[in-house]
Amino acid sequence: MIQKWGVPVDDECRNRDLVFYVNGRWVKDVDAKISVLDSGLLHGWGIFEGIRIYPPGIFKLEEHLDRLYRSAKYLKLEIPVTKSELKGICTEFVRRNSLKLGHIRVLVSLGEGYSWWIYSPPTLLVLGVPVGHVSETLYREGLVVKTSSLRKNPIVCIDPRVKSLNYLNHKLHRLDAEAAGADEPLVLDTQGFVAELSGSNFFVASKGGLYTPRRHSVLEGVTRATVLELAEKNGIPTCETDLTLYDVYTADEAIASGTLSEVMPIVKIDGRVIGDGKPGPITRRLRELFEKLVTTDGPWFTKVD
Ligand code: PMP
Repeated sequence: MIQKWGVPVDDECRNRDLVFYVNGRWVKDVDAKISVLDSGLLHGWGIFEGIRIYPPGIFKLEEHLDRLYRSAKYLKLEIPVTKSELKGICTEFVRRNSLKLGHIRVLVSLGEGYSWWIYSPPTLLVLGVPVGHVSETLYREGLVVKTSSLRKNPIVCIDPRVKSLNYLNHKLHRLDAEAAGADEPLVLDTQGFVAELSGSNFFVASKGGLYTPRRHSVLEGVTRATVLELAEKNGIPTCETDLTLYDVYTADEAIASGTLSEVMPIVKIDGRVIGDGKPGPITRRLRELFEKLVTTDGPWFTKVD
């Protein structure tokens, strides 16, 4: 099975034994069907969440669902179940599939409609895949990143805090980086300030402190908030601020964070070696703290009996 970030990326990700939640019914992956007129497909009109399952339970489910409901509010989209019902569906998903290490994808679209007018209730899907650990080599060697030639969708067009089904901007950044042989794009906003990567948040460490772009210019990553909290609690001062490429190139360390990437070192950006080109002490410490958190039972986990 081929994996990236621990996620299967070949046909194996179609796990024939998994059971998905599709508009109120539990069906096998291969039997799961939605309309070809779904607004999520036709217009990218919908929202989603990506959530991690670790052996102790579902990681920060509340925070993910809070973000989902905030995205829904922004897009004037009615999620057809309450937050606590959705929490129950996610838990049931993990239980039915006996997943110990995995990823849940919750997706809500506006419903069916050929054009602007929608004539069905919203679509609600809870899907997922088993997920392995990110390769140790990647953690040891770190990511090579390139500043994207494109810019992030500006806040006057769509707020970056919305996790919508329309990931075209993100995918274009990704294509740009891949074409240049980099692992990930570093995305700047239209003013030239650093925002995030295509699917992860971004930090630099300099002179013992941890810096990350302000929350209104990025997706408010659940892992980003976790990293900031872990840093603060462990004596690493943090600051949400404007960062330019100057700050990035001259930083001691650079880090990506995300549900799939967890805490990932970045060792090279635009041909500049960051620090000494190896995961630095703050990155290693944060990774250690994160690893401990996701393997230890605590209120950050929703338990699945
Ligand atoms: N930024 C973007 C654009 C993302 O899509 C994601 C999630 N994949 C993140 C940051 C990281 O957010 P989280 O830590 O909640 O996964």
